[in-house]
Amino acid sequence: MKLAARVSQVTPSLTLAIDAKAKAMKREGIDICSFSAGEPDFDTPEHIKQAATDALKQGKTRYGPAAGEPLLREAIVRKLQRENQLTYKPENIIVTNGGKHSLYNLMMAMIDPGDEVIIPAPYWVSYPEMVKLAGGTPIVVKTTAETQFKITPDQLREAITDKTKLFILNSPSNPTGMVYTPDEIRAIAQVIVEKDIYVVSDEIYERLLYDGAEHLSIAAVSPEVFDRAIISHGFAKAYSMTGWRVGYLVGNVDLIKAASKIQGHSTSNVCTFAQYGAIAAYEDPRSNESVELMRQAFAERRQAIVDLVAAIPGLSYIKPDGAFYLMIDISKFGMSSLEFCDGLLTEQKVAVIPGIAFDADDHIRLSYATDMATIEKGIDRLATFVKSKL
Ligand code: GLU
Repeated sequence: MKLAARVSQVTPSLTLAIDAKAKAMKREGIDICSFSAGEPDFDTPEHIKQAATDALKQGKTRYGPAAGEPLLREAIVRKLQRENQLTYKPENIIVTNGGKHSLYNLMMAMIDPGDEVIIPAPYWVSYPEMVKLAGGTPIVVKTTAETQFKITPDQLREAITDKTKLFILNSPSNPTGMVYTPDEIRAIAQVIVEKDIYVVSDEIYERLLYDGAEHLSIAAVSPEVFDRAIISHGFAKAYSMTGWRVGYLVGNVDLIKAASKIQGHSTSNVCTFAQYGAIAAYEDPRSNESVELMRQAFAERRQAIVDLVAAIPGLSYIKPDGAFYLMIDISKFGMSSLEFCDGLLTEQKVAVIPGIAFDADDHIRLSYATDMATIEKGIDRLATFVKSKL
């Protein structure tokens, strides 16, 4: 069949592909250790599930407004005020089919052919593909370990041309796990205002911070950057709600109206009763404790995984202070990241994501949102693999 040209311009999502492969191998009874997709192994907290179940029983089973249930949009407004000191109205928010879909809607609503979107690498696999699907041009700026894989204000300034429309900021970062300090966020904000471009801040890992790292939303830096900022967010990572598909986009009213128009002709509203679970995630006081318990578990796993990897000759990494990913440098092995990951999966039954997915071919990414036993067994197998290749 002759398919649309846009399809050949994008590559499939490697994070999803490898996760699906690992899950299929597990179903076949293969003893696999998976560090692939960033998906918490915890169940969704009980009170959130209960709220969705109640909504289902109460008949919240019908179409709702394309932009989301009014009660959820209001709960998001309160969250942004309470946790980020940001003042928005419900009209500034659209509820989307996961955080990923909020970014897709943004690209569709904002990017025209010829528009450039600046993306620091290593980046999350879907950013450039979404830009391309919208007809835009991704401009990738490579960052290095010297700056902890964070783009510097000078790098950003240099990448901006008269075609630049948008800059994608992601802190805490997937795949690096790095967190921009408040001062670094302020310095980036200055460039955004000076060059008069827009910034979308992907804040989905906001709650997953370690060792005293702080999250500052770039939208909160100044009124000038507030006008140029868009926030992408969702419930998947902090509340262990990956399969629920509830996310949201925050921005100026015209942008949200445009995204709602697109959503009105594509997915319509997000599953109605799932949105009631999301309301409980933000409004029920029990959520804080649930999130904190999961964060503490991730913190322990992070320490365990970095200690285990540190003991393996030939591997190096920068200790992450956010999200639940560890990026490991494999440049000593003279293999592409795909070769390394294929070998590791075939020989040792360990699934990790090749850095090529994030434009970091000399790295692999491990998600440590998995139980401690898998971490111990999987890293032991990684050590055996590495030893056989050195
Ligand atoms: N965002 C997660 C990851 O990077 C889930 C998979 C995906 O959507 O890419 O692993």
